[in-house]
Amino acid sequence: CGIIGVTGTGPAVPRLIDSLKRLEYRGYDSAGVAAMVDGRIERRRAKGKIRELEAVLVAEPLAATIGIGHTRWATHGAPTTPNAHPHKAGRVALVHNGIIENFAELKAELQAEGRAFESQTDTEVVAHLLDHELGTGKSPLDAFKATLDRLTGAYALAVLIEGEDELILGARKGSPLVVGWGEGEMYLGSDALAVGPFTQKISYLEEGDFVAVTRSGATMFDASGAPVDRPVVQVSASS
Ligand code: GLU
Repeated sequence: CGIIGVTGTGPAVPRLIDSLKRLEYRGYDSAGVAAMVDGRIERRRAKGKIRELEAVLVAEPLAATIGIGHTRWATHGAPTTPNAHPHKAGRVALVHNGIIENFAELKAELQAEGRAFESQTDTEVVAHLLDHELGTGKSPLDAFKATLDRLTGAYALAVLIEGEDELILGARKGSPLVVGWGEGEMYLGSDALAVGPFTQKISYLEEGDFVAVTRSGATMFDASGAPVDRPVVQVSASS
């Protein structure tokens, strides 16, 4: 339903929560964040309101400069904490808006490889596929492209990879995703509102685009993998 990613030098998790609160009005059934803590991805998730997630974070804080967050509107799998995003497999954690139409076929293939699933979502296959591709020795971008090429359906994705301390990967097909430009800090969001607490400088990704975001900038590619530049536009603070 809603996506936010933050990579910078300041505390990322309070920013993720700020953004998720802006997205609350859309409706959702659960929420979660993942952040890189000392090179390892940790998650906190909760069924229900953002304040439930905040309570989990008070009990078990996450100190990090990079993270991703999500509000879920369940399409596949009941609205439970194990089905809440981010989903994690090996080195990968990710959040997803949309529906992966061919998830059952991909899941069967990954299970045949010995991979165990923790959720009933369509989303979890994407984390496993990307972790599988990384395991073949591909770079994060090549592994991401190979993963996207296997997906049918609609997605906006934001991805963290262990070992990549300031990188967030993003992709959009059938669900919107924007890059937000800050000063020494960069953002990915499901729309301008998601990044609105931090910046009004936005690049709208186009259909099929994917992107590598670091704290110093963003590198964008079209569906064929060719580098592209999407214009940076100034949106109004109220949007
Ligand atoms: N299809 C995914 C799920 O059910 C994502 C739903 C959403 O867009 O929030 O978990």
